Amino acid sequence: MADSEPVQAPDGASPPPKKPPTPFIAQYLAIKAEHPGALLFFRMGDFYELFFDDAERAAELLDITLTARGEHDGAPIPMAGVPYHAADAYLARLIRAGERVAVCEQTETPQEARKRGSKALVSRAVVRVLTPGTLTEDTMLPARMGQALAAVAPMAKGREIGAAICDVSTGSFHIFQCAGPRILDRLAAFPIGEVILPDSEIGAAMLPELQSGLGVSATLRPARAASVRAGTAALKAAYGVQAIESLGAFSRAHLAAIGLVLDYVALTQAGKAAALDPPRLDEDQAVLAIDPATRSSLELLRTLAGERKGSLLSSVDRTVTSAGARRLAECLSRPLTDPKAIADRHDAVAWWHGAPDRRKSVRETLKSAPDLARARTRLALGRGGPRDLSALGAALAAGQSIAAEFGATGAVLPPTLAAASRALNTARQADLSQLDHDLKYALVPSPPALVRDGGFVAPGWLPALDEARELRDDSRRVIAALQADYAKKTQIAGLKIKHNNVLGYFIDVPSKVAGPLLEAPLNAEFIHRQTLAKTARFSTNELAGLAAKISRAEEAARGFEQGVFDGFIDRVVALSAELSQTAEALAEIDVTAALAEWAEAVGAVRPRLVEGAVFEAEALRHPVVEAALRSNGGGFTPNSVALDAAGSAGPRLMVVTGPNMAGKSTYLRSAAIALILAQAGSFVPANALNWGIADRLFSRVGAADDLAQGRSTFMVEMVETATILNQATGRSFVILDEVGRGTSTFDGLAIAWAAMEHLHDTNQCRSLFATHYHELTEVAQRLASAANVSLRAKEYKDDLVFLHEVQPGPADRSYGVHVARLAGLPRRAVARARQLLDQLEGEAAGGGSLPLFAAARPDGPDPLPVEPSAVEAALSEVDPDDLTPKSALELVYLLKNIASENLP
Ligand code: ATP
Repeated sequence: MADSEPVQAPDGASPPPKKPPTPFIAQYLAIKAEHPGALLFFRMGDFYELFFDDAERAAELLDITLTARGEHDGAPIPMAGVPYHAADAYLARLIRAGERVAVCEQTETPQEARKRGSKALVSRAVVRVLTPGTLTEDTMLPARMGQALAAVAPMAKGREIGAAICDVSTGSFHIFQCAGPRILDRLAAFPIGEVILPDSEIGAAMLPELQSGLGVSATLRPARAASVRAGTAALKAAYGVQAIESLGAFSRAHLAAIGLVLDYVALTQAGKAAALDPPRLDEDQAVLAIDPATRSSLELLRTLAGERKGSLLSSVDRTVTSAGARRLAECLSRPLTDPKAIADRHDAVAWWHGAPDRRKSVRETLKSAPDLARARTRLALGRGGPRDLSALGAALAAGQSIAAEFGATGAVLPPTLAAASRALNTARQADLSQLDHDLKYALVPSPPALVRDGGFVAPGWLPALDEARELRDDSRRVIAALQADYAKKTQIAGLKIKHNNVLGYFIDVPSKVAGPLLEAPLNAEFIHRQTLAKTARFSTNELAGLAAKISRAEEAARGFEQGVFDGFIDRVVALSAELSQTAEALAEIDVTAALAEWAEAVGAVRPRLVEGAVFEAEALRHPVVEAALRSNGGGFTPNSVALDAAGSAGPRLMVVTGPNMAGKSTYLRSAAIALILAQAGSFVPANALNWGIADRLFSRVGAADDLAQGRSTFMVEMVETATILNQATGRSFVILDEVGRGTSTFDGLAIAWAAMEHLHDTNQCRSLFATHYHELTEVAQRLASAANVSLRAKEYKDDLVFLHEVQPGPADRSYGVHVARLAGLPRRAVARARQLLDQLEGEAAGGGSLPLFAAARPDGPDPLPVEPSAVEAALSEVDPDDLTPKSALELVYLLKNIASENLP
């Protein structure tokens, strides 16, 4: 084609002429242009190929070979490919790396294309865009974690925001509207995997904050989808309604967000109507507000290192189904605030707790219930296979048997379980039972994943299918018998009947002995097809007839199986709402039973809800630290907490002091975690807990303690502290750990002091305040409703033993010096340190100038040299508060070395 182009006269000035792209590259570029920002997986035969920049990026991320193919604009085209049958694993890796992938398939066979013209290109189209928030494949989704896509639509210059959050894999769909600054907190309560925003100025401006605040990939989408009109139209189309009022009352912000999300779902599912449940309004007041910083500092679902292991979720999780595990994560991410809803869940946990045998048997049944929610969605999206159908059947069967078990108890069920039991007995239960029954008989025990693999419909289900299969098998048997006949007839022992995809069935004879078949009389029957190096191939009319029969029968069988499959899909779609209810009921049953299982294992008790803003815990434990200590053979020391915002059942604010490693952070966190567990509807690891509902929970770790995250600066710490002081209400619960440590002593002290007073006087909420600033213990004594507690350590055989026991009163101040002495610092250095300390404390209490430089030196027979000694110089580098036992020991070795070097 390029050859026919006119050659330009070389004039020396113009650049070499650009060749137009080949038709193939033109097709590629056109499809690629529709999906900017996504890697294009371009199906070519048995491979998905990537070209240009995509190829380079994929080669790097997937560690696959980068090659080149043809030329474009005078340069070789980079190319990389992955085999089609192994694509899922590669796709999963790309998605995990935060990429989006458009999967482009051949939409006709090469034969079909050839019919249109000898050089016609096979037509192709994108059938799916995979993104981190819109997956449906089990192979790519974390089974026990939810996956949500959030569409954020800023209104009124971002002062108000509409948000729509859906999980394409389960069909859940939530919407809410909030003030601009609240958006991160609200989103953080969902397992967000991806965020989309309109490509307006304000959308683009919000993108970086959402991206980093949630730690997920964020994309700008055309703003036109984020409008009231687009949202309304999308709702009508998605749910087939005339008026959207039948789905609920939507604000303008809601509709804009809905428009944005449904447009994106349609894009990623390549136009397939996603099986989303109707949007549900997410009420702000219904959940305990927990901002992202608090979530990560309490390590609710993940540790600071990003692992599930070591998080609160993983230590509590005893669920036996993936859907149950996802529901538990949801409960812990979104603790409740409605006393009735909380009590209902406690009732359910208590019921299971009191019925260990029933719990055991129901959990056993649940184990056989696969992931109904996700199987249902895949089937509805046309992406499911026979295996999903059989999963659906097994889950329905488990539901029936649990419903029967509930029915047989005869006891009155607590409301949550009664509701679950009702959901397992819906009005259309007969249809569900019939579906379950039919699936059981229609499918073979372990069906293949794909419909096109065939063979998933059980014998006996459809007579016509059985007939077709019989016909096929009969013909195969006849063919097998034919081989013996032909061998005898031709006297060729090596004659075989074989099958391949090109020739179909054929007779294969070693070339050396094939002669007679090519001559009369045998050549009348044996028709020559092909001669290869070692063999010759023949056919006969009889064989061709049988082969045609087989292929007709196979074709027919495939058609029948497809028909059976489609019939089930129709029923699944028709029962979609009921299946979703069943899935939710099973998840709720799993969660409540699992919480009871956990409560029994760790000795957790039912918390008691009271009116006032109190928090009185007796012998409270930190479930994660306790589990870690247990696995190392250690034990956890329980501690009590008593707080009351009104100041009667206990102080409003508690200042917690104690040496490093004494257990201050653990103590604070155990209280915050108990609050979350209680409001999540779980029992709590304590001997008793009386608590009043909290509206918000804040947890902050001072910069000095938060270095692991690598992002801590004093500024971050202050912004977070400001949030608390601005937002905490009388119903809130605050834990502040080492605020102010990220800056110089006096700045930090002043800030911590002011924050503490503000919490006490203005916010008037339940607060625990851990600090190294001894001065604050005195401040606490002056505040009306504050108290000091401390974690003590004891000296034992030249060692410092942490008792992890909380006691009334401030900590003994001299621990740093104490540790230094235990570490073997020279007696004179310790004495000097103690003296300096006294002086510092005296000056600080007296409100004098920086006491450090005013400290006098001791008089005596052996005055200290004016120049600091090498040992003193080394010591001056050391902050005793920062010493771990190991570094203290190292310090001693260092000091000893210096001392021996300086010997006269
Ligand atoms: P730092 O001031 O250095 O931050 P800290 O006082 O906050 O220390 P934690 O981090 O809470 O101390 O606890 C240190 C370690 O002590 C924990 O990792 C845990 O192993 C142990 N520990 C804390 N509390 C208890 C407890 N109540 N019972 C048993 N061990 C505990």
